[in-house]
Parts: sequence; C-alpha cells; structure tokens
Amino acid sequence: MKTLLLLFLLFSDCKHPVLPTDSTYVYICDSPGGKKYHLSQNCKGLHNCSHKIVKLTLEQAKKRGKTLCRYEK
Ligand SMILES: [Zn+2]
Repeated sequence: MKTLLLLFLLFSDCKHPVLPTDSTYVYICDSPGGKKYHLSQNCKGLHNCSHKIVKLTLEQAKKRGKTLCRYEK
C-alpha cells in the first residue's frame, strides 16, 4: 500500500497540473469594474471588454481581487 502511494505521488509529479497554479498566466480586462480573470484570451467573457486585456499571473490576479470568470468554472 505504501509503495502504491509512493508511485502515485511520483506519477502525479510528472504530470502537468490540471488546475491552474499561482504562476499560471491569466487574462483580465483592465476596466475599473472588472472582477474576473480568464484562463483563455479567447474566452467569451473577454469579448465585451472595451479596455485593454492584460496578461498576468494568477497570483497577481488574485491579489487584485479577481475571481475566475463564470464561463470557465
Ligand atoms: Zn472567461
């Protein structure tokens, strides 16, 4: 059982993370009312953005109080 767990941990280390990490790049609409971040620059949630689209890390987006766009949950 212990070996199995170890193998699992090793295996998961080699895989790319499924969930975005804090160093993942995300996109935000740089408008005063913008509260969302987007995993894709082509997300339809960004199509209404009339301001500049800014690329930043997830960590920076969280520091700005952004939450994940509702289209990407
Ligand atoms: Zn989005």
